[in-house]
Amino acid sequence: MKSYRKELTFNTTHRREFINITPYVDACLRESGIKEGLVLCNAMHITASVFINDDESGLHHDYEVWLEKLAPEKPHSQYRHNGFEDNADAHLKRQIMGREVVVAVTNGKLDFGTWEQIFYGEFDGKRAKRVLVKIIGE
Ligand code: ZN
Repeated sequence: MKSYRKELTFNTTHRREFINITPYVDACLRESGIKEGLVLCNAMHITASVFINDDESGLHHDYEVWLEKLAPEKPHSQYRHNGFEDNADAHLKRQIMGREVVVAVTNGKLDFGTWEQIFYGEFDGKRAKRVLVKIIGE
C-alpha cells in the first residue's frame, strides 16, 4: 500500500471565504500515483472547514446568510469564547460545515457524485491556514 501526505496553505483576503480546492486535491492525487484508494482532506484549524457541495455562487451566498443566522459574527460580546479572541462564531460555523471529507479514488480519479466539488471554508481568515491531504491505496 502506498501513502501520500501534503499540506496545502490558504491565506484568504476576507474573514469568511469559500475556495474550490478540487484542482489542488486532484494535483495531489496525480503526484501520489495512487490509482485505487481513499483521499482524506481536512482543515487543520478549528475555525475552518473542508466540505463537499456544488460550485454555485448563489449557494455559497446562501451558506453565508444561513451561517450568519445560526452564529452571527457580531456582536462579539455575545459569546463567552470571545475576549482574548473574537472568533467564537468561526468555531461554531466550522462545527456545522464539518472538519473533513473522504473521497474514493477509482482509476486514478476522484470518484465524485454529480456536481460534487471539494471546498475549503474559511471562517476566520486573513492569515495562513493549512489543509491536510492524505491519500492511501495502490
Ligand atoms: Zn477561538
